[in-house]
Amino acid sequence: PYDGPSAAEIARKRAEFLSPSLFHFYSKPLNIVEGKKQYLYDEQGRRFLDAFAGIATVCCGHSHPEIVDAITAQARRLQHSTVLYLNHAIADFAEALAAKMPGDLKARDFLVLVTSLVPVVFFTNSGTEANELAILMARLYTGSHDIISLRNSYHGNAAGTMGATAQKNWKFNVVQSGVHHAVNPDPYRGAFGSDAEKYVRDVQEIIEFGTTGQVAGFISEAIQGVGGIVELSPGYLPLAYEKVRKAGGLCIADEVQAGFARVGSHFWGFETHGVVPDIVTMAKRAGYLQGIGNGIPLGAVVTTPEIAQVLTRRCYFNTFGGNPFCTAGGLAVLRVLEKERLQENAFIVGSYLKDRLRGLQEKHEIIGDVRGTGFMLGVELVTDRQLKTPAKDEICHAMEHMKDMGVLVGKGGFYGNVFRVTPPLCFTKEDADFFVEVMDIALSKI
Ligand code: PMP
Repeated sequence: PYDGPSAAEIARKRAEFLSPSLFHFYSKPLNIVEGKKQYLYDEQGRRFLDAFAGIATVCCGHSHPEIVDAITAQARRLQHSTVLYLNHAIADFAEALAAKMPGDLKARDFLVLVTSLVPVVFFTNSGTEANELAILMARLYTGSHDIISLRNSYHGNAAGTMGATAQKNWKFNVVQSGVHHAVNPDPYRGAFGSDAEKYVRDVQEIIEFGTTGQVAGFISEAIQGVGGIVELSPGYLPLAYEKVRKAGGLCIADEVQAGFARVGSHFWGFETHGVVPDIVTMAKRAGYLQGIGNGIPLGAVVTTPEIAQVLTRRCYFNTFGGNPFCTAGGLAVLRVLEKERLQENAFIVGSYLKDRLRGLQEKHEIIGDVRGTGFMLGVELVTDRQLKTPAKDEICHAMEHMKDMGVLVGKGGFYGNVFRVTPPLCFTKEDADFFVEVMDIALSKI
């Protein structure tokens, strides 16, 4: 039994000692004291089904014993900076991660006659840091400055990545040097529907009218997470990559949310689009790194040795990136993903859940769209299907009802009207049925 401070006491401390910028879900925030597999428990031992573990990139389920053992064993042995001495944890995880990259990324250097065919890894502590580094490398490698990102994207909260992020909700007064935001190829709300070629024309026009004709790179998520589980129009990414590469730029895949088996059909989100990026970034959640560290703070940039070479021009240092504690955990995550066939589960149960949510859409007029892949699903609520008016208040009421019935779900999108369904990858068919039943009742109540 929990004998720690009460929810009210924690809330009081949080209000007094933590930054006022912190926000929480629910009118009465939950005090979560424990997590096991796909469940979270509050201080009274009430169990909640966690359908939003993706936010912390918890992919293998909460407190997975094998991952906990790997981390605690490492913590008992050594925790230090990785930079100055040798330690096997970082090297082992880098090797395992590099092996997860598609062949073409490994082979790209072959085309320019560099000897190594193995992609290399630079570890960071977060997705933001990984994307900052990717943008820096693209600029150094190409000698160009301009970066193209998609409207509605989220790439982080430091200066460069906040510039690349394209939603006013997440932007402060940063100098947005050299960043251009292309029209989002959003099949549901976008001006051109699913017509990838029309959206790509905008990328070409940005290159022609907004830059010297040469760009440093293009960064995008495979499925926009914070933006409300927006799948890019089919065929868009290969065409956009082609335009960017013609203009000398590198293509960066932000896999912070879609990576690490979450999309089910593939290990990486970009693979669902049939592209091979030049740089891949990932982080916390395989739920958000979405999973790289099963919730452990860990991020990474993977690229070719030739591109990575640019960082040798100066000293580049990240004190805790890839520390033994986190990389021992990361390696255990990869092991568990494989052993428990969690990618396959994401594919099978995710497809089943999506079908069931589509069924719910037929019953509830308020569901405007159901989308996503595997365990990265979105349910967009609208008060008018024709006008697609965002149902902002209704979604908050529905979330409260669902919480009261024992289900925690995320929300996002520019208008805050999209349920984000990103459970741990061990979510079962029974969990999916329970989830849909609870959402059905909640939507009937509003
Ligand atoms: N990229 C994407 C796609 C994300 O969703 C996020 C986090 N929401 C980030 C980058 C930034 O990651 P972090 O919060 O670990 O800095």
